Amino acid sequence: MSIAQEIQRIRQGLPASVELVAVSKFHPAGAIAEAYAAGQRVFGESRVQELLEKNEQLPADIRWHFIGHLQTNKAKHLIGKTDLIESVDSERLLGLLDRLSAERGVVTRVLLQVHVAQEETKFGFAPGELTEWLGRGAYRAMKNVEICGLMGMATNTDDEARIRADFRAIATLFRQIRAEHPDLASFSILSMGMTDDYGIAVEEGSNNVRIGSAIFGARHY
Ligand SMILES: *Cc1c(COP(=O)(O)O)cnc(C)c1O
Repeated sequence: MSIAQEIQRIRQGLPASVELVAVSKFHPAGAIAEAYAAGQRVFGESRVQELLEKNEQLPADIRWHFIGHLQTNKAKHLIGKTDLIESVDSERLLGLLDRLSAERGVVTRVLLQVHVAQEETKFGFAPGELTEWLGRGAYRAMKNVEICGLMGMATNTDDEARIRADFRAIATLFRQIRAEHPDLASFSILSMGMTDDYGIAVEEGSNNVRIGSAIFGARHY
């Protein structure tokens, strides 16, 4: 199937309320242009330089989501270039994005990345760490980042029960934060699910799926 057909197929299987982020990392601008021609406007990239280059080459109404680990020394390059940074994984990075955005006079929309997967290598806040930090209310002083929700990944496994339990834990945390922090007015995005597990993620409440391989094929690193 072509890129356009894959997008149509995936879109048809998703509720209208779920945002489809086409993860285009490691795929050329031509592949993105094909998806764009099929009506896709939201794309996900995981490396700063790659996002900036594609942003230059492609139509201005594309909404770029940054989904990779963001090193603090590269954060400044992303300010003003993204619709959403999905992968804010530390207080330090959040504070830095707030300062850099204030300097530029913009507000940067972000998701906080939560770590529940049973892997040492994944970045993100532990659930307890996140509720404790939000409970202290320090985010209220940050006027130039808009905390729009949570992003999380399930354990990389074939065990469907494990995957579901991970997504459920993230969704539960999402609802808890929404209930406890009504002042987080934009806290509405729950980003969970990739090519192999997005069906389960949507069943567990995801409203933002990040799909790469199923649209663009295998990545060549
Ligand atoms: C690469 C990546 C995806 C997309 O993965 P696929 O399995 O190709 O759909 C989604 N989310 C994040 C954070 C990624 O790094």
